[in-house]
Amino acid sequence: MIVTLKHPTDADRVAARLQALGLWTEKLKSEAETRALLVRSDSAQVEPAAIEAIEGVSAVWTAPVAHPRLDALAGTPVEVRGCTIGHGALPVLISGPCSVESPDQVAEAARAVKAAGGVLLRGGAFKPRTSPYSFSGHGSPALGWLREAADAAGLAVVTEVLSEQDVDSVAAHADMLQVGSRNMQSFALLRAIGRAGKPVLLKRGMAATIEEWLLAAEHLLVSGATGVVFCERGLRSFDPSTRNLLDLGAVALLANVHRLPVVVDPSHAAGRKDLIAPLARAAIGAGAHGLVVECHPHPSQAKSDGAQALDPEALVGLADSCNLGSTVNGGSR
Ligand code: PEP
Ligand code: MN
Repeated sequence: MIVTLKHPTDADRVAARLQALGLWTEKLKSEAETRALLVRSDSAQVEPAAIEAIEGVSAVWTAPVAHPRLDALAGTPVEVRGCTIGHGALPVLISGPCSVESPDQVAEAARAVKAAGGVLLRGGAFKPRTSPYSFSGHGSPALGWLREAADAAGLAVVTEVLSEQDVDSVAAHADMLQVGSRNMQSFALLRAIGRAGKPVLLKRGMAATIEEWLLAAEHLLVSGATGVVFCERGLRSFDPSTRNLLDLGAVALLANVHRLPVVVDPSHAAGRKDLIAPLARAAIGAGAHGLVVECHPHPSQAKSDGAQALDPEALVGLADSCNLGSTVNGGSR
């Protein structure tokens, strides 16, 4: 049950009255304000009319609300180390290599991201790979290389958490935790990542419906994530001409109707560098609040996803062609 309030200042008094009736409540916060109280399902049974009669209550919603915490965040951007992603902020550039391969490689990539006006450095220390024989990342040491490279370049860090046992070490090094496409519905992992109390970049499962994606975000918020930025990275389709099928309808829906923070990863969508810039421009046109783009100082030597990695010069070209240059949110070009 959701109890909406006439005014945010009524929250504590109404919550106390509800508690006296045996109802357990939690505050649902929108931008710095409590506009509603969630009554937990394990509470006592009380007639809605008795709740409506409490001074300060504006309405009582008894129909099940699928993702109340997420709904309460509509229109609220996510803060990542001083950088704002979402409604009302300029689009951000998040970029870096597919895999963190060495201290030098990631440091060079970080300088390229900074030069292109980026604000967050990405790069996998733990890589989900389809084949057990593919490079699966350097693991823990790569977290330190990533952090050092980002600090030296003046960038924040986002990186993927592949397993529950790595949450603490990734959270100690990163400003934002990434849930990979293959793990969007790994619910125990979502809960563990949420408990780290950080902002999360939630990639869409490659065969997930939008509602499943929203519910995955609700799992993160229930367990303590400070915010969720959705990342569309393409769906599995019948056509192998591109690696995945970029769903810009979902981006337009989340950005403009749900008013939730959403970014687009044209690199994993296209799987080929020649389509990244046009897809990125389309993403910004659809309302995306940023781009996640793979780059590598020497793409032909990349240990993973080299075919879709932009070199430093192409990354600057992409930022310019998407108007992310000097006006980029938090960036420095
Ligand atoms: C990644 O961004 O490093 C990645 C593995 O992407 P995805 O989970 O979208 O496949
Ligand atoms: Mn990749």
